[in-house]
Amino acid sequence: MSRQIVITGGSSGIGYSIAERFARAGDTVTITGRNPEKLAAAADLLGARGLRCDGTDLEQIEALADALGDIDVLIHAAGANVASAGGADDAPTLREVAELWKANLDANLLTAVLTTTALLPHVNSGGTILAIGSAAAEIAATGYGAAKAALAAWASGFSAVVGPRDITVNTIVPGYTEETDFYATPLSEQRIQAMVAATDTQRAGTPGDVAGIAYFLAGPESRNITAQAIHVSGGARRTR
Ligand code: NAD
Repeated sequence: MSRQIVITGGSSGIGYSIAERFARAGDTVTITGRNPEKLAAAADLLGARGLRCDGTDLEQIEALADALGDIDVLIHAAGANVASAGGADDAPTLREVAELWKANLDANLLTAVLTTTALLPHVNSGGTILAIGSAAAEIAATGYGAAKAALAAWASGFSAVVGPRDITVNTIVPGYTEETDFYATPLSEQRIQAMVAATDTQRAGTPGDVAGIAYFLAGPESRNITAQAIHVSGGARRTR
């Protein structure tokens, strides 16, 4: 039977690939995004429904909740590393630090927390909530890393809240993943090589790597996996 899947940030990169995986399996997919043209183009390609929603905007989140019916799988792929416009050597001002941290918490933590809060009444028993975290959570000295660490902590704690309703909650933790719009400024070849060298598999991750595990975690064979952070980084981050 076709399940109802909602994926935030689904018009590019990892979210798009996850949407493609579920759509290919015959599920009914809704993607959200901020840019109407980009969203419509992606939804068209996927054969999905595109609903405009900035996951930091309360009114847009409420409108999203009003537009949706039952949900079986809710996946939070919306996120961004909001970086300083200054160079690496520039010491940011106190105000710049405050703005950057708040922007990263908004983009990566509150998007998931607020959207889940609004959509939870629609999530069916037997459902799944997935957050896309980041290996950067292990180095949480930046607003982005700290927001992703908080996201994984929230998801783990939230599992206990909704577990009695037979809803699982997990975080997928990608390492460096190519073929996305994530890096506003292209990475240097040297940086990419260093990140690939840190993996056991000696390759960059792909959105498809994340989509495969998302599909599994939303499936019937993983119903006893919840409150976990599952790394998809070719061994760049180890759990032991
Ligand atoms: P991406 O930029 O292609 O996709 C992120 C999507 O989220 C974009 O479509 C963007 O417009 C959307 N988005 C951002 N803020 C939003 C908001 N407030 N409301 C609605 N949509 C919003 O990059 P990606 O790599 O596919 O990113 C997907 C997730 O994976 C992100 O959470 C990112 O932090 C995480 N991640 C990426 C990498 C990587 O190397 N690419 C590594 C680890 C984690």
